Amino acid sequence: MDQQNSGRKRIAVIPGDGIGQEVIPQAVKVIQASGANVALTDFDWGADHYLRDGVTVPTGGFAMLARDFDAILVGAFGDPRVKTNIHAKEILLGMRFKMDLYANVRPVRLLDAALCPLKDVEPKDIDFVVLRENTEGVYTDGGGVFKQGTPDEIAIQEDINTRKGVERIIRYAFEYCRSHSKLDGSPRSNVLMCDKSNAMTHAGGLWQRVFKEVSGEYSQITAQHMYVDALCMQMIRDPRQFDVIVTNNMFGDIITDLAAGLQGGLGMAASGNIHPGKTSMFEPVHGSAPPIAGKNLANPFGAILTAAMMLRHLGSAREADKIEAAVLEAVRLKKTTQDIGGPLGTREAGEWVVEKVRR
Ligand code: ATP
Repeated sequence: MDQQNSGRKRIAVIPGDGIGQEVIPQAVKVIQASGANVALTDFDWGADHYLRDGVTVPTGGFAMLARDFDAILVGAFGDPRVKTNIHAKEILLGMRFKMDLYANVRPVRLLDAALCPLKDVEPKDIDFVVLRENTEGVYTDGGGVFKQGTPDEIAIQEDINTRKGVERIIRYAFEYCRSHSKLDGSPRSNVLMCDKSNAMTHAGGLWQRVFKEVSGEYSQITAQHMYVDALCMQMIRDPRQFDVIVTNNMFGDIITDLAAGLQGGLGMAASGNIHPGKTSMFEPVHGSAPPIAGKNLANPFGAILTAAMMLRHLGSAREADKIEAAVLEAVRLKKTTQDIGGPLGTREAGEWVVEKVRR
């Protein structure tokens, strides 16, 4: 292997549908401008591919990703032409479930006070992370419908919680807390578990018991609990109090949209789908946003920050720092898309960051 190829990380890029096809090319240009030692390979999995060939994921697709790549950069899936959304389910949930990417890591950071709808909140006040269980819960699609279309119809949606699944995400949260510091360099010190164990007693009971057990192994970290309804209220009342939040699949989905609102909206939020030691997948929090797709309106910063998160995960911290600093400066100088108050289009905002990173 020559010098350049050694240590080179292999990244699969799947832009997907809608605005995914607009924001991911910007993220890719930024990665290239950063000088990170990576080899990028494109895959056209998504609605167009499905409508053309009837294939969502090619045979052996997930095994190929796990074998041949160090990480996967994904845009978004969802297209009004595919009413069942089957391709999104099979590709996105397929990756999360079949590659067992059990930790959905969603950092919530305010880059500029102007982006936050709350008054008197500074960037230093919002720097927490939500760890969402990513392979269980209601997303396993267990259940069924009985006597459909009649007045006696019964719909059952199962919420699957396994001892193994709950324990590993809670342990991940404590390990994350122990090994990550805040942006200002201060250590993280609190893990908050969020559930609805007063109403969902069986599943909540498991989460409560496991949380108590695992937290006992981490005496230097404080363990806290909040019901999900109270947490939503507190997130708006005083987001300063949060550090590391761990929760189930559905609550994680909901509270991270709320959290994205604190940091400037869906267009600013990044995420990783991680299984330590395995090929992990990184995607912006937003979906395919059909109403704004193809109009050069989508904010590419969520995707670009996701690329930075991926590079950091792959060991390229210097490049990740450079990209995050460039996005921060773009936000401060209002070199942004309209959703966060700037005059630029998707391509122009992406290009501004590319130029900044290249310098
Ligand atoms: P999903 O179910 O896949 O999460 P969704 O329908 O909940 O998708 P999104 O597709 O993420 O939601 O977007 C909802 C709305 O938020 C969009 O219609 C758009 O107005 C706004 N939005 C989302 N992402 C962006 C972005 N990157 N830039 C600007 N606006 C965005």
